Amino acid sequence: MRYTSRFMRFGGIEAGGTKWVCAVGEGGTATLASETFATSTPDETVARAVEFLAGRGPLDALGVGSFGPVDLRAGSPTWGRITTTPKPGWGGTDLAGMLHAALGVPLTLDTDVNAAALAEWRFGAARGLATCCYVTVGTGIGGGAIVDGRPLHGLLHPEFGHMRIPRDAARDPFDGCCPYHGDCLEGLASGEALRRRWGRPAEELAGEDAVWELESEYLALGLVNVVCTLSPQRIVIGGGVGGQAGLRQRTGRRLRALLAGYLDVAELTEPGAGEAYLVAPALGARAGVLGAIELARAAAGAA
Ligand code: ZN
Repeated sequence: MRYTSRFMRFGGIEAGGTKWVCAVGEGGTATLASETFATSTPDETVARAVEFLAGRGPLDALGVGSFGPVDLRAGSPTWGRITTTPKPGWGGTDLAGMLHAALGVPLTLDTDVNAAALAEWRFGAARGLATCCYVTVGTGIGGGAIVDGRPLHGLLHPEFGHMRIPRDAARDPFDGCCPYHGDCLEGLASGEALRRRWGRPAEELAGEDAVWELESEYLALGLVNVVCTLSPQRIVIGGGVGGQAGLRQRTGRRLRALLAGYLDVAELTEPGAGEAYLVAPALGARAGVLGAIELARAAAGAA
């Protein structure tokens, strides 16, 4: 009898509010195939992902990193559903149920930012650390955290974008754009907030010093809360706005100044240290989907 074996094969989906990235791989940073497409309606978007993944089977497991908020509470009757998203048509979508029904493989679900944090911790810019955070600043703002190698959950999951931070209305009369809170961090510093406050999208605001000074102030105020509550050893800053030239460095300097030496660690007190503490994603825009594959691989118990 001939004995055959094969590597386990996993599917990954970074299910973002703007685009979905689907990939198939065996784990690690290489993928066998991938596809990216714009997020439309739930039915249409899920069908497109299923078509891609079903054509590249058999899969041993599927990992999904989703935009949120999403119900990740073990044992919840609505586990796997997208909950209160302001994205039209997506509230209440049974994301995990639809994918599982169509593909019939074990499915692990987490937030898109926890998936990205997992990939950066395992393979990228936060390798070797016990605790790190991944913050994306794009159309919206999200954040995920890895604590001792595991994505942080709890009551629901972290929602860094909706921290309340101080706003000086004399300096910034823009009331913010979050439909729930107005001037939370996402309401003030997301790509959508930049577009509404300044009348142009972020990519057309490069070189406008006042824009980036205010942006770095808000991001640093938010990150002070992250540093003081979760104590991450490093923070990875992703997203289209987060990748604006000089923004990470400017935010790092402001973060160091706002902490004012209170946390007496070299990472946050030495000159230039704040800049090294906030790092770019080593995996670039692939962090989310690689993290989704890693979620599937880890759940399947593959080595
Ligand atoms: Zn909010």
